[in-house]
Amino acid sequence: MSKKILLGLFALMMTVASFGNVAEASDRRVDPKLVRQVLSWVEARMGARAPSLPVVMASRDRFDLVMNMAGVSYADARALYIPGSVILGDDDWSHTDPTKLSLLVHELVHHVQMFNKRKYACNDAKEYEAYIIQNEWLKANGQRPFASQHWIDRMSSCGAY
Ligand SMILES: [Zn+2]
Repeated sequence: MSKKILLGLFALMMTVASFGNVAEASDRRVDPKLVRQVLSWVEARMGARAPSLPVVMASRDRFDLVMNMAGVSYADARALYIPGSVILGDDDWSHTDPTKLSLLVHELVHHVQMFNKRKYACNDAKEYEAYIIQNEWLKANGQRPFASQHWIDRMSSCGAY
């Protein structure tokens, strides 16, 4: 086979593969109406607004892919925020599970943080705010905290420990 034909085949394969991803991606997208609802709660709590909704996906594959790329900030163990997108690392993510929904609350705090003018001492200070608001949301919904205050204080000390 000539090099040209091989390149053509490769391009076709890539096209098919990316179409596959688009179909899969839309299947795993969390309902924007739900995202709007949760974001409104977060915005009210923070006294700040985000001008747009992030795209929220629930996909273990996508989560692993992004976690393995360099330069990702705000990477939490089960969900992450990249500007404009939230990736929940769980194919079975459901808003009916309060703990799983609280992961979305946490990442939406990061979404609002990206747009507000507040200055944070370090990235971990942003995590402090995100975990505190996640815990508050769980409490407001009659659930146990996601993380203890002691753990949150330690992880967000900006290098003081
Ligand atoms: Zn975080």
